Amino acid sequence: MSKESATEIATLLSQLVRVPSVNPHLDPDSEGEAKLADFCCGWLERRGVRCTLEESSPGRPNLIAEVGTAAGATVVLCGHLDTVAVDGMRRPPFEGAVEDGRLYGRGAYDMKGGVAAIMLALARLADAEVRGRVVAALVADEEYASEGAFAFVRRHSADACILTEPSALELVLAHKGFVWLEVETHGIAAHGSRWDLGSSAIAAMAPIVVALSTFDSAVLRSRTHPLCGPASLHCAQIEGGDGISTYAAHCTLRVERRTIPGERTADVVAELVRLVHDASPDAEVRTLLTREPMTCAADAPLAMCVRRAAEAVLGRTPRDVGVAYWMDAAIFSAAGIPTVNIGGSGEGAHAALEWADVASHDALARILAEAALAFLETCGVPGAV
Ligand SMILES: [Zn+2]
Repeated sequence: MSKESATEIATLLSQLVRVPSVNPHLDPDSEGEAKLADFCCGWLERRGVRCTLEESSPGRPNLIAEVGTAAGATVVLCGHLDTVAVDGMRRPPFEGAVEDGRLYGRGAYDMKGGVAAIMLALARLADAEVRGRVVAALVADEEYASEGAFAFVRRHSADACILTEPSALELVLAHKGFVWLEVETHGIAAHGSRWDLGSSAIAAMAPIVVALSTFDSAVLRSRTHPLCGPASLHCAQIEGGDGISTYAAHCTLRVERRTIPGERTADVVAELVRLVHDASPDAEVRTLLTREPMTCAADAPLAMCVRRAAEAVLGRTPRDVGVAYWMDAAIFSAAGIPTVNIGGSGEGAHAALEWADVASHDALARILAEAALAFLETCGVPGAV
């Protein structure tokens, strides 16, 4: 790492941290990503990168930036502009101070560091000969409903996507998905003394909780993915009853099931519905939200290009890894765009003290530029991957 390029990424990342972009769904007083998108747009345009702002919903822009020409393949570099809220943070969240190679602030690690690396990569490629297009998708709303990534894949096609969520410069080839279900049981409300009339919805829920928990420990732990580990399920929230002297008319249970690559969401939902109905035939089951898992073959052209670029920059081979949490990567992958993730180091995503390691994000910017060029070089024919 040269001192000059480390200063470059630290300066840019500090500027990004100083423009708050808390997701307005997580803090209603926040204005969201618009100001940050404007800042990034100005910064990139001054360096010869073409930029467009596309609203994913009113006031919630995606910034689309690109270099190169349409004659060739398209590789997307993706990061999210929004951050979680700042309550309880131990240092000023929007100061962007650097100490001992660590840049502090909300979003520094998750993931303005990745955004800064993408911006630097594009700025450097603006002067290079690019055989195809390198597109930055700096998207809104990842921390809530991912409407930015969904809007991007609805409007754009691409041959590959590199996401830059933090990964300590390891190559993320897989992540889990999830299914959120709500289960409701019904009882008969009656005065607490009227055992002859009343029926408790909470008692009706009990065999469901037992069945789901047993299924988790007895079955799901043995369904595993080599990079992501086992599937899992937990009973996350429960509500029921109106008072200690009333038979409970309703009980609601919220269940989260984490899925592994290879599992189909529709099958997972059907299996859970069966389990619930076997335990309690009258229970109602509603699907609240589902997100797909993501996977990319270790020998896919994109994975090879990113691995080789990382080797060239870092002098070591990054490990192929899977992660348990969900990322926007699955949205690109589900749209038919081969996707991997590589990001920098740091600590404190969604936590009281958040910092990004400057040197690893400097390396990331180089890896992204090199990997994008290599991919376009080897897979230059659109549709060849
Ligand atoms: Zn993130």
